[in-house]
Amino acid sequence: MARDYYGILGVDREATEQEIKKAYRKLARKYHPDVNPSEEAAEKFAEISLAQEVLLDPSKRRIVDRGGDPMEQGGGAGAQGGFGGFGDIFEAFFGGAGGAGREPRSRVQPGNDALLRTAITLEEAFAGVKKEVTVDTAVLCDKCQGTGSESQSAPVTCDHCRGTGSVQEVQQSFLGNVMTTRDCPKCRGFGEIIQDPCRQCAGDGRVRATRDLTVNIPAGISSGMRIRMAGQGEVGHGGGPAGDLYVEVQTEPHPVFVREGDDLHLRVTVPMYDAALGTSLQVDNLAGGQTEVEIPAGTQPDERIVFAGEGMPRLRAQGAGDMIAHVRVAVPTELSREERERLEALRDGHAGSPAVDSEHAGRDENFFSRVRDRFRR
Ligand SMILES: [Zn+2]
Ligand SMILES: [Zn+2]
Repeated sequence: MARDYYGILGVDREATEQEIKKAYRKLARKYHPDVNPSEEAAEKFAEISLAQEVLLDPSKRRIVDRGGDPMEQGGGAGAQGGFGGFGDIFEAFFGGAGGAGREPRSRVQPGNDALLRTAITLEEAFAGVKKEVTVDTAVLCDKCQGTGSESQSAPVTCDHCRGTGSVQEVQQSFLGNVMTTRDCPKCRGFGEIIQDPCRQCAGDGRVRATRDLTVNIPAGISSGMRIRMAGQGEVGHGGGPAGDLYVEVQTEPHPVFVREGDDLHLRVTVPMYDAALGTSLQVDNLAGGQTEVEIPAGTQPDERIVFAGEGMPRLRAQGAGDMIAHVRVAVPTELSREERERLEALRDGHAGSPAVDSEHAGRDENFFSRVRDRFRR
């Protein structure tokens, strides 16, 4: 028969994580073996601990909600055995470190990862670039080679905690006297002491230093991407293995091109006459050359001219995106008398007059709008 885990804690089936923890703490104050040494209380405490464990685990709670008992399947006995030790009552209440049998902390710790940012131009992102960066992290102390000892001798066992790294204390609390465990103040939890700390790193095994590195930025990289440089991060405490360095690349805005994925967009303005008659213009491209943008006769406002494969190179892949020119047609706003007369003559010889569109009206003025495309090789 499935146990009633909700009933054990006295919470309803919709109880939140907070409500479950609260109910558990309330009961733990009554039944924790530090408070109530009776065997009945010990059983009860085991029961509420199990109920909390089950209800705080979403997958186990789902089984309960379907009328099952997650602690009774196959390895049920093993699961039961999992909470043999009661731990420290402070651990139960505050979730802090504690409990007997804790291991001393290792003096040699792996180092943290480091992150730095570097700015590049769109041209550099296009071609790829080697960038010099200055890194300011912890490096191995060259005087003690990370041992933290002036004579590079091995550390000795701490005499205060006898190498355990922790000391036990009796504390007054609302529950009466409780035994708590904390880091040994003499060895700071390491369980060992360096007798002649290195004068350069004060026994830390590492020192701060700046160094210059060359980062290989591949062609096609996007703004915000990070390049990982294994083992170039911070050296750990006690000369522990270095973490990784991440270089985040930021691309500066370009005066002509706007990047969207691997495509490059630009705007060109064409006088009304040229749009009607056709023309061409030269655009300085990111490869350092020039691309000829041909404006065919009869080009409409907002038309896009697509240069397939002339956009950004695809990162670590073949091919490239497109270059897309968005055409703006400039209509003259000031006309001389002569110009006006010639335009009027053109108009009078031309069919067509202003009309309301019968189809869907209103032109999309969005910069990246979908309009008729002209493809060019
Ligand atoms: Zn040193
Ligand atoms: Zn100690």
